[in-house]
Amino acid sequence: MQTDRTLILGLIDTCRAVIADHADHLCELDRAIGDGDHGTNMRRGCDAVYLDRERLSAMPLAQALETIGRTLVMNVGGAAGPLYGTLLIEMGRRVAQANEPNFAAIVGEAIDAVARRGRSRKGDKTLLDVLYPVHTELVRQSALIRIARTAKESAQSTAGMKAMRGRASFLGDRSIGHVDPGASSCALLASAICDYLKEYRPA
Ligand code: ADP
Ligand code: MG
Repeated sequence: MQTDRTLILGLIDTCRAVIADHADHLCELDRAIGDGDHGTNMRRGCDAVYLDRERLSAMPLAQALETIGRTLVMNVGGAAGPLYGTLLIEMGRRVAQANEPNFAAIVGEAIDAVARRGRSRKGDKTLLDVLYPVHTELVRQSALIRIARTAKESAQSTAGMKAMRGRASFLGDRSIGHVDPGASSCALLASAICDYLKEYRPA
């Protein structure tokens, strides 16, 4: 499957911009229940992907996804790098294997791979608490505006959860009342992608 160059360049730029604009806020969320580096980590990863954008946009989709995933693993670091990396790498592998790629199914399998990698599940107060609800909307073929709203509301809802994984879990009950930084970056990315796709018209 060939990549639509304009689309992939637009998505890379969109993701980089939304993370750069909210990096301070993501660090602030991570200072409350972690070590304060989530915004810095995500910005470093998105910048690395951005530097590679021309090469990525010339690759077949599966290869582009896998390459972005590996770049995120290497450059985001922390706990989030391998998890976001797994999401993209697994999507790429499944796109490569599928004859007729079913986007929702591929995303679902990639999210399950993230859960296995993090030994975590829905309700643990992580980025999975955004990824699974977004996946449900994809399966329902919901409108982009609806998917974006679900992503944001799901991130907010992590405030009521007790962290069971990652650094925030060291706080136990004291993690309650704070939005999870990984869930927040995930919602920012998902809603920015939806906003971009709403306006996108293939050439
Ligand atoms: P670190 O915790 O190593 O400093 P980051 O601050 O970049 O890494 O990322 C923290 C985010 O990673 C958390 O907010 C959470 O969403 C996610 N996370 C951490 N550990 C796990 C895990 N085991 N499973 C799923 N997500 C996790
Ligand atoms: Mg951190």
